[in-house]
Amino acid sequence: MQTLSFTERVEKRMGARTGKDYIDRLDSAEHDIWIDGKKVEGKISEHPAFKNVVQSMAALYDMQHDPALQDEMTYEENGERYGMTFLVPKTQDDLVRRRKAMKRWADYTGGMMGRSPDYLNSALMAMSQASEYFAQNDPLFGGNIVEYYKYVRDNDLSMTHTLINPQVNRGVSTHEQADPHVAAHVVEKNDEGVVISGARLLATQGPITDEIMVFPSTLLKGTEEDNPYSFAFAIPNSTPGLRYLCRETFDYGKSHYDHPLGSRFEEMDAVVVFDDVLVPWNRVFLMENAKLCNTLHMTTHATVHMTYQVLQKNIAKAEFVLGIAESIVDAIGIGQFQHVQEKVSEIILAVETMKAFVRASEADAQIDEWGVMTPAWAPLNAARNIFPKTYPRLIEIIQLLGASGLMAIPSESDLESPVKTDIEKYLVARNTGAEERLRLFRLAWDASLSAFGSRQVLYERYFFGDPIRMSMTYYTSYDKTPMVGRVKDFLHRDEVVTADAPVLVE
Ligand SMILES: Cc1cc2nc3c(=O)[nH]c(=O)nc-3n(C[C@H](O)[C@H](O)[C@H](O)COP(=O)(O)OP(=O)(O)OC[C@H]3O[C@@H](n4cnc5c(N)ncnc54)[C@H](O)[C@@H]3O)c2cc1C
Repeated sequence: MQTLSFTERVEKRMGARTGKDYIDRLDSAEHDIWIDGKKVEGKISEHPAFKNVVQSMAALYDMQHDPALQDEMTYEENGERYGMTFLVPKTQDDLVRRRKAMKRWADYTGGMMGRSPDYLNSALMAMSQASEYFAQNDPLFGGNIVEYYKYVRDNDLSMTHTLINPQVNRGVSTHEQADPHVAAHVVEKNDEGVVISGARLLATQGPITDEIMVFPSTLLKGTEEDNPYSFAFAIPNSTPGLRYLCRETFDYGKSHYDHPLGSRFEEMDAVVVFDDVLVPWNRVFLMENAKLCNTLHMTTHATVHMTYQVLQKNIAKAEFVLGIAESIVDAIGIGQFQHVQEKVSEIILAVETMKAFVRASEADAQIDEWGVMTPAWAPLNAARNIFPKTYPRLIEIIQLLGASGLMAIPSESDLESPVKTDIEKYLVARNTGAEERLRLFRLAWDASLSAFGSRQVLYERYFFGDPIRMSMTYYTSYDKTPMVGRVKDFLHRDEVVTADAPVLVE
């Protein structure tokens, strides 16, 4: 594949970009990002909090230009090559092509970068095909979503998103809050666009992406009084007045040996502040329509395609945890114990269950009303309700198997100090020397106990929203009537009991 510079690509509107393209664009944009009391100045790719994860993102984009992976990671349309996760699936084979590209990216990160670009690419792909949904609000918006999809696809942009209003008082709806100006809301509409003020949380990857999708939550359903808070739009992260307030970084600037996950995949989560941000009309997809906002993700099937993507991440993540668990078992010789086998089997079950959900969703996929081949929702919905409970248990298993080994983890610099001989004598494993054992146990610690690992657990609990309200929606939306009817019939079944077997009398 021909590799062009970032500027050449933009001029040519070429698709799939390289890691360098991604970094060049990120570094050339003026973002208003705050961390540890300071505004990020200079290149984002050189800032200690972001430089490592930026390299990981770049590695994902580079796969699109690897001759060995190009056909898996990109597709051709009108003489251009685009990132595979922009492909609009028309057949089950297309779904499989999308799935393989997503899984390839997820495997690279061990599933530890939850918002790799394919997540929102999937959402935007689905929404762009449902332009009539947006046109109900305003015909302009229907065209906007299509043009925005093409713009993001053609330039292979990375996106973050924010759905949730600040956690001030969850007991009342947005318009009933003591201060109605806290949540992001419309303050003005003029010829140029809509002015937004207030805040949203959170935006994972906010500081390391190009654009932000400010979309409605599917879980925090608003009423018509919440119309000023109800919208869907997307803007560049460099838009004046848009500010990111980061938490402290969980990348401590340590080596990959010491901090194998945090030094690579620390995505960062940020509060999003809108300080009178002007959103141009061509970037507005829904405006002041709580009803359309509430059903946006489900009706356009964005949720389905996002969940399909998320499952590839979940499988990669569960497989990665399985690899860590079995490596610990092998390292300290505990594989013969029955409860250990049972615990590792629990991880295997998680892997195989998630894989089965994916295959079921593909087998029952259908063309939807927007003309898109759409995976079956029932298996995906079950999977997304299960995984928030599964992942914390998988991590608990790592803790239970690793035990004190997860704390007996001197750092790389200790290996270069006078205590090296102690380490080499006392921290060997059954099957390997101390250096290799520490490498493994530091990985297990980073997955299960470090700030990075703890965040992953919280992340999975809340990945798709509040698991409690998701369960409530799951319960109310699931059609239980046939099962209840069958039981009722059974309770009133008349049977003649003979000596051999019961005989049913209809
Ligand atoms: C690591 C991480 C990364 C995230 N990244 C993103 C992102 O990139 N983009 C994005 O948009 N969002 C992101 N989120 C936010 C995520 O969408 C929310 O955490 C999730 O939707 C839950 O909302 P909340 O955190 O405001 O919890 P809340 O809604 O405030 O819930 C807090 C507690 O109160 C209970 N509760 C509140 N209201 C009710 C109710 N009505 N009925 C019953 N119980 C209730 C909940 O069950 C929960 O126990 C991220 C979250 C985390 C933890």
